[in-house]
Amino acid sequence: MAYDDNNIFAKILRGEIPCKKVYEDDYALAFHDINPQAPVHVLVIPKGAYVGMADFAANAPTALISGFMQAVGKVAAEVGVVEEGYRLIANDGPNSHQEVPHLHFHILGGKRVGPLLD
Ligand code: IMP
Repeated sequence: MAYDDNNIFAKILRGEIPCKKVYEDDYALAFHDINPQAPVHVLVIPKGAYVGMADFAANAPTALISGFMQAVGKVAAEVGVVEEGYRLIANDGPNSHQEVPHLHFHILGGKRVGPLLD
């Protein structure tokens, strides 16, 4: 899928709309989900124009891929979910119910969740 520069996370990255920022570095931005599904619900997005993981893995610079993955781990630690555990989800493409077409990982924690799929 072609990247849409007007998706909401692109606008957040450009600072055009606000977010409740948790973490930022050269490779990633993390912020609280606007409609949290758990006591901790944070989104981590790479600083690059990628809709899904296959495109990201195939085409992003290695520094961005590793920087983004490191950021996911740092954010999980920063929001305090590592010891009790958390769910890491990336909805990717039409079958997944991805709503925002910019690659993002959900960090969901602070409660014990059930099986992954309905
Ligand atoms: P997806 O279904 O995996 O694409 O998840 C998109 C997520 O983005 C949903 O959990 C939304 O609640 C969240 N979201 C949409 N708009 C905003 C926003 O402006 N700020 C923070 N989170 C948002």
